[in-house]
Amino acid sequence: MRFNTKVIHGNQHHDPSTGAVMPPIYQTSTYAQKSPGDHKGFEYSRTGNPTRQALENAFSSIENGTYGLAFGSGLAAIDAVIKLLKPGDEVIATNDLYGGTYRLFTQIFKRFGIVFHFTGLNVIENIEHLINSNTKLIWVETPTNPMLNIIDIEAVVQIAKKNQIRVAVDNTFATPYLQQPLNLGADIVMHSATKYLGGHSDVVMGALVVNDKALADQLYFIQNASGAVCGPMDSFLVLRGLKTLHVRMQRHCENGAIIARFLAKHPKVDKVFWPGFESHPNHSIAKKQMRDFGGMVSFSTRGNTKGDAIKIVENLKLFTLAESLGGVESLCGHPATMTHASIPKEEREKTGVTDSLIRLSVGIEDPNDLLEDLEQALKK
Ligand SMILES: *Cc1c(COP(=O)(O)O)cnc(C)c1O
Repeated sequence: MRFNTKVIHGNQHHDPSTGAVMPPIYQTSTYAQKSPGDHKGFEYSRTGNPTRQALENAFSSIENGTYGLAFGSGLAAIDAVIKLLKPGDEVIATNDLYGGTYRLFTQIFKRFGIVFHFTGLNVIENIEHLINSNTKLIWVETPTNPMLNIIDIEAVVQIAKKNQIRVAVDNTFATPYLQQPLNLGADIVMHSATKYLGGHSDVVMGALVVNDKALADQLYFIQNASGAVCGPMDSFLVLRGLKTLHVRMQRHCENGAIIARFLAKHPKVDKVFWPGFESHPNHSIAKKQMRDFGGMVSFSTRGNTKGDAIKIVENLKLFTLAESLGGVESLCGHPATMTHASIPKEEREKTGVTDSLIRLSVGIEDPNDLLEDLEQALKK
């Protein structure tokens, strides 16, 4: 089955009791048993729920994996991955990580004795330098948020495999439409399904997909034991959203390219960060590893002041000023004060997240309306 068919039919079945084409929302916490332990595969909805299971099956299919798990948020999914580790274990992670991931690593798990190193993963020597016998996981995010750097997943996997280290990839920005990390040798794919997978800015959810049975069993154990699961209604909404992932992503990419090229030519704009430009430092990796360049575009204005950036995001009308990304509607954000506010200023600026940076999540509206909106906001 090809990708565009998988997003609609992958691992899905009509409801056996009624023929319902979409899985019913099984809004139940528990399931009747005939005799203790004699049930139809479900006991309690933290452990398993048929609507969630349908979604988990869909997740595994679109990432070309074997086992899918759904969580109450993207961070809950990351939390489950780090709970595979024990005190003393070390993690090497991308240095321009999603702010919430950085906060979870440094303000929660560090206290439990897990050691995190943050570095540029595109320089293999950076990774080699940090590897020791305690290194258990490399955490990759690509494209990165909000700088849109691209990390060569295959290159990271190669050094990780040599040292028996697992690789997890946060695939939120790319989605499986653009890249499938398990195919490139990664062990775990993670998503904030809140973003492109759900696609309609109406659910908060996380996902993991793996191939290895033993790893899947450990993660299912953590999912049930820690309990950060999502409800049946949210599972249904994401399953519905998923079915248009391929058409939405195609349009996000087209509109993203139009906006990035417009900004690059605009006299008020200083730098534009978008992996589709040949001048982008990781353009060749992006071309090798991704089908297209996505709908996320970041830019800074000439003069580079925080005041200018704030004024622009206030003046944009079609681009709603809001946290999050990946929905059908265009959003804009000011990472330094919004998504990345929990990262110390020096750390932030080292990776390019300056006070003048604006991040756009380009939606699937008519691109001419988006261009007009940007033009009027930049003019003011
Ligand atoms: C939003 C996001 C997360 C966190 O996901 P939530 O669903 O908000 O918990 C993690 N990684 C990336 C890249 C994100 O954009």
